[in-house]
Amino acid sequence: MTCRPTIDAVIVFDLDDTLYLERDYVESGLHAVGRWMERQLGIAHAGGAMVEQFRAGARGHLFDAALASAGVPDAEGLIPRMVQVYRQHRPAITLAEDAMRFLSHRPGRTGFAIITDGYLDAQRRKIRALGLHRLGVEIAVCTDRWGRQDWKPARRAFERVQSFFALPASAFAYVADNPEKDFVAPRRMGWRTVQINRPGRLREGVATPADPAEREIDSFDGLLA
Ligand SMILES: [Mg+2]
Repeated sequence: MTCRPTIDAVIVFDLDDTLYLERDYVESGLHAVGRWMERQLGIAHAGGAMVEQFRAGARGHLFDAALASAGVPDAEGLIPRMVQVYRQHRPAITLAEDAMRFLSHRPGRTGFAIITDGYLDAQRRKIRALGLHRLGVEIAVCTDRWGRQDWKPARRAFERVQSFFALPASAFAYVADNPEKDFVAPRRMGWRTVQINRPGRLREGVATPADPAEREIDSFDGLLA
């Protein structure tokens, strides 16, 4: 027998650009890499410069560009270490205000869970930084723990969460931002699906997603409507 209070509905959240803005994570990581460059290579102000590039729309090769502009020769050998610093930094991120409001006023008989893609090291640090377990998230599944083949749209994480709560598919809703991959598995399994279009997200909408969500919202304030 379980000691858990009776739960008959489960809201499962994606992480990046669903509960917080992923751009905050990127900027936090770039600053961490900048501090590392200053310490290890004596290059000052690279973090701020990379953040400026990112805000101007640059999405790849930020580390190469920062090393090149500092005139560092063997840039190639340093990139993997910078990537590691980025993924293993302690992120300075906070929940979106509406997400915080929602999570801290949990509806009755409702359980919370997370399903997120992304590099395991990074995702675990984000979950810790956001304090999600303290806010009542009972299970957070990082799909990368099983390897890339189980990232969304794979079903494995959704099956894991459903069996954890031992409830029928109709009890579950998945709230996420990316219609290219997020809703494929939960829809096929019979879960409810909600797409959140958070202002400031990294990816703007896909024109005609193959598996759109049933509902769209702009903030969690609309979730219970
Ligand atoms: Mg996302």
